[in-house]
Amino acid sequence: MLLEIENLAVEVAGKRVLKGVNLSIAEGETHVLLGPNGAGKSTLFLTILGFPQYDVVEGSIKFKGQDITNLTTAERVQLGIGVSFQTPPAIRGISVGDLLKIISNQDVREELNPRMKELANQLKFSDEFLDRDVNLGFSGGEVKRSEILQLLAQMPDFTMFDEPDSGVDIENVELLASEIGTLLDKDKPQRIRQRSGLLITHLGYILNFVSADKAHVLIDGVISCSGNPNEILEDIRKSGFNGCVECAQCL
Ligand code: ADP
Ligand code: MG
Ligand code: MG
Repeated sequence: MLLEIENLAVEVAGKRVLKGVNLSIAEGETHVLLGPNGAGKSTLFLTILGFPQYDVVEGSIKFKGQDITNLTTAERVQLGIGVSFQTPPAIRGISVGDLLKIISNQDVREELNPRMKELANQLKFSDEFLDRDVNLGFSGGEVKRSEILQLLAQMPDFTMFDEPDSGVDIENVELLASEIGTLLDKDKPQRIRQRSGLLITHLGYILNFVSADKAHVLIDGVISCSGNPNEILEDIRKSGFNGCVECAQCL
């Protein structure tokens, strides 16, 4: 297993948000995380990434066989974990180009590596855009594309995407999906895929373009249902999340 989460309970600001989450993701697999607003999806991501506000009170997170529950975020990123945030902060004084240099271990005083410029252009960013402060005054679509650009500079072994399709128009969803595919080794035959991912999506829109192996439904801090992504989505579209608590898939 690449990622193994066991009985994970997490408190944020004194409130228990995750109440015993179990989740395993193998090398080469893409999983989807669904669930109503406030269920704890983003909390799970930020806990896997090791944000200090997310207090693990029970359980463990293993990555590549190593217990990472107490590692810092920087150490986890070094091990190959990446995330596209739902609402990343603006960073005044640091340009997109600078950030790409930092991520790709380049000296910030040097000219940006042409490969990075190429990636930026691929995501429909002009060279001038690279001089802009990260996320400052970006449109919703620009924020999401910039998140994916940073990940392409990093190429993590395990990538979490928090609602990459939210607030993005159809044309850009297809573009983002193709780059997400690259991050998840979808351009390789399934048997040799190595990279894995976990994708939060609200309406399942992105799944029309990115294939997933398994879906999980998180309700009130617990995974109440896991199974085939298309079947689960269809159930949710028909009867909402209520049906997931005791659905036919899991019984
Ligand atoms: P989701 O991503 O599924 O919509 P979240 O993980 O963002 O849900 O939130 C789950 C619950 O935890 C919500 O009640 C939210 O208000 C609370 N929460 C999350 N992060 C924080 C935080 N940093 N401070 C206080 N409460 C938080
Ligand atoms: Mg939400
Ligand atoms: Mg969220």
